[in-house]
Order: sequence, then C-alpha cells, then structure tokens
Amino acid sequence: MPPRPDDPLRLAILCAEARRIVVLTGAGISTECGVPDFRSPGSPWLVHKPIGFADFLASPATRAEAWRRKFAMDDIYRDAKPGRGHRALVRMASTGRLVAVITQNIDGLHQAAGLDDDRLIELHGNGTFARCLGCERRFELVDVRQHLDETGMALDCGCGGFVKSATVAFGQPLRTGTIERAVAVARTCDLFVAIGSSLVVRPAASLPLVAQAAGAALVIVNREPTPLDGQADCVIHCDAGDALIGAAEILENHTS
Ligand SMILES: [Zn+2]
Repeated sequence: MPPRPDDPLRLAILCAEARRIVVLTGAGISTECGVPDFRSPGSPWLVHKPIGFADFLASPATRAEAWRRKFAMDDIYRDAKPGRGHRALVRMASTGRLVAVITQNIDGLHQAAGLDDDRLIELHGNGTFARCLGCERRFELVDVRQHLDETGMALDCGCGGFVKSATVAFGQPLRTGTIERAVAVARTCDLFVAIGSSLVVRPAASLPLVAQAAGAALVIVNREPTPLDGQADCVIHCDAGDALIGAAEILENHTS
C-alpha cells in the first residue's frame, strides 16, 4: 500500500537514499516554539508592524519607533526555545548528510539548537543582535534597548552609522554573499527539502527550483499548499517536527 500523502515518514524514506541534503526552513518550523508567523491572521506582527528600510533610514523618529516595535515583538517570543524540527536538523547535520540549512527565519532558533554557523544560511538575517549599517560592528540588543529606554532615541554607532537589527527589513538588500551561498549549496545537493515555508517570498521561493534544475529531487513539507507543489517530486502535508524527527532517525541508522 503506498504511503498516504500526509505521512511524515515519506521524508525519511527519501532522506535515506540521499547523499547531500539541503533543507530550507520557514516559519512553520518555529510555530510550535511560540514564534508568531508573520502571515497568520491575528499575528502580533500586524500590530507591531516592522518599519521598512527606507523609513528606517528616513529619520531618528522612525528609527526609534522601529526599535520600539522590535522590542515589543521580542517580548512576545522571549521564551521561545528550539523545537523538535530544530533539534532533528542538528542530528541530521551530525551524520554529515545534511550539508546546509537555509532559513527564512530570524529567530535564531537553529543556532540555539546547536546547528553550526558554517552549515546555516540566514536569508533574512538574525533578530537576536544588531549591526551598524556603516561599519558592520555588532551591537547587543540589551545595549540598544537601554539607550532607547534612557533617551527615547535609537543608538548610533561611533562611526556615525545607524545601528539596526541584524535582520533584513522590507526593502533592504540581502547581506553580501548570502544568496550566493544559498544558490551554491542548492546547486550541489541531491535532495532539497523545503519545510514549513509558504514559498511565496523571493529569493527563498526560487531556491527549490535552482536545486531541481541542477538535478536534485525536490520535496515540499508544509501544512498548507504552496505555489511550487505542482513542480515538486514529493509533497507532504504534515508538521515540520514530525517529518524531521523521522528523517533524523533514519539518517542516524543508515549512516556508517
Ligand atoms: Zn559603525
């Protein structure tokens, strides 16, 4: 009897045959961790709507407001911890067969689970620290927040540059080299798994097709349909954590 279309073990079967796996993760892997999905109805993101990049650059007032909204969101998911999917990906990486995780998420939960930085590509940056837009110096959020609380102003760098969350705001270019790294790993894998991503936001949405054009099998794991389902070699409608736990177990048992 063929497996049901929502059977999470279908991912494990495909992973067992793969030598170089690349996983793209989206919001679906973090929802069980208490991180709100930007797109879901009633999302707190809609209340504390992030300030776009052009507005952030426009004035000290918008920069301060951007930080107020950012910290309001941080307070909502301050206690978020890595979930089953994050932990399973670390196990898959330790077998050597998961070569890279590309993520659209900015929650830092892949690192918190213990995934090595050299296997992680964060397309939209990381919301757990800040960076000067001028000299790229790193700043810690606690210092930015203290400055905001005390002065009502956004912190500026000593170089005169604006200090911004290390995420990619709407309208902000991706960090140099990020998409190049993502395309390079997508082109050299034999199995590309898009998991928990609605696959509507570019450049993430283009990476599965880059991998497939280079010869990889494409698997989409998501609770909801995606625009790429028709092109995938396999679509599994299930929870990200369920699918990845099964894949981690089979890789550990089938890797010598
Ligand atoms: Zn600076």
